[in-house]
Amino acid sequence: MASEKHFKYLVLGGGVAAGYAAREFAKHGLQPGELAIISKESVAPYERPALSKGYLAPQNAARLPGFHTCVGSGGEKLLPEWYADKGIELILSTEIVKADLATKTLTSADGATFICEILLIATGSSTIKLTDFGVQGAESNNILYLRDIEDADKLVAAMQAKKDGKAVVVGGGYIGLELGAALKTNNFDVTMVYPEPWCMPRLFTAGIAHFYEGYYASKGINIVKGTVASGFDADANGDVSKVNLKDGRVLDADIVIVGVGGRPLTGLFKGQVEEEKGGLKTDTFFETSVAGVYAIGDVATFPMKLYNEPRRVEHVDHARKSAEQAVKAIKAKETGETAAEYDYLPYFYSRSFEVAWQFYGDNVGETVLFGDNDPATEKAKFGTYWVKDGKVIGVFLEGGSAEENQAIAKVARAQPPAADLEALSKEGLDFASKI
Ligand code: FAD
Repeated sequence: MASEKHFKYLVLGGGVAAGYAAREFAKHGLQPGELAIISKESVAPYERPALSKGYLAPQNAARLPGFHTCVGSGGEKLLPEWYADKGIELILSTEIVKADLATKTLTSADGATFICEILLIATGSSTIKLTDFGVQGAESNNILYLRDIEDADKLVAAMQAKKDGKAVVVGGGYIGLELGAALKTNNFDVTMVYPEPWCMPRLFTAGIAHFYEGYYASKGINIVKGTVASGFDADANGDVSKVNLKDGRVLDADIVIVGVGGRPLTGLFKGQVEEEKGGLKTDTFFETSVAGVYAIGDVATFPMKLYNEPRRVEHVDHARKSAEQAVKAIKAKETGETAAEYDYLPYFYSRSFEVAWQFYGDNVGETVLFGDNDPATEKAKFGTYWVKDGKVIGVFLEGGSAEENQAIAKVARAQPPAADLEALSKEGLDFASKI
């Protein structure tokens, strides 16, 4: 007979938010057997951003247990033994295929049932696949995606099998940029393809992208813009050999890595809970419209206090902080108290080769470039302010020191007035340092 297990608290998903939620529960004191984490993955929660960075390094590559949560934010590395010591059950390699939110009952692919009093949904996102759109030849071998450690291992194996070969990166977002750099560092001949006029258009301005595209070109990466991959050819083994572009060009390829975006994994809960902006709608405590059901990390659409509107955020910093907030709120409720409101300042970062940037705040309004964004400059330092209604509300900085990054975070939070945009550009980082 299929098993049935009961828990007080259950986290569905074993990624970043799950690891930080477990640590927060433990901080508040847990009875053995009260908390379980159910994950499709075969390993304990880890810092997912490592997969497109240290995991792909040609030497001294990061490997588990080196990057289990919560090391990414300077915290304790929670090894599987830590969960066992705390009496937290890690139910790994287990996919939930059915969720009944009204009774808080989850059913796994092999028919096991899990029932809880409080459910935290932390299913994250899935990658959008070219096969979803029926792109011709997209099922060929070595057309790869990157979301979890299994995907990362496939990429590492492909890099070994196709040593010093040709790689095509489809997509010019941060995943595409990080993977383009990783493949180049592994001695691949890399071409990046994206339809937009410049890379990372959701955040980068033309001025920001000018630097990174020039920098990537100086590293030997070929960039093809304004077109998309419309089909793939494979050799007799079924391995991808060519990428056909919509504009008629054809690129040779031994490996294709696709980074064209993700989708929050909310399908299990359709029709059972309120949704908004593609995510599960929550209050400031990350509780959904179903009492006792919380949503954290990539899947949550929460009230962003700073901008007074609901937002969904797909970044690691928010995954960590939303998890902590939800657990604080759950524990406060148990003692009749109320947790403080979630007052999140959006923060996002990326790094590749020797460049590293940070962004805080909101990227709407007019933009003001400052500093030297010439890709030929060694150790370039430059940035951009976003100014809306006469106030600075977002800041991007490449090459900042720890103090400078702290300064831009402070600006994005304080939203100081800046009437004269020319003066702001001239003042550059000094403006942030004064706040
Ligand atoms: P996830 O960490 O994705 O965890 C979701 C978990 O749920 C997974 O374990 C998954 O297997 C499990 N799951 C899903 N459905 C089921 C099911 N039905 N049954 C059982 N288990 C299930 N953000 C940044 O800010 N900076 C970066 O540099 C950065 N780099 C990244 C690099 C990569 C390669 C990727 C993929 C993401 C990166 N991100 C980055 C984004 C960041 O990692 C995510 O925002 C964060 O992981 C979200 O945390 P989460 O817990 O919501 O989801």
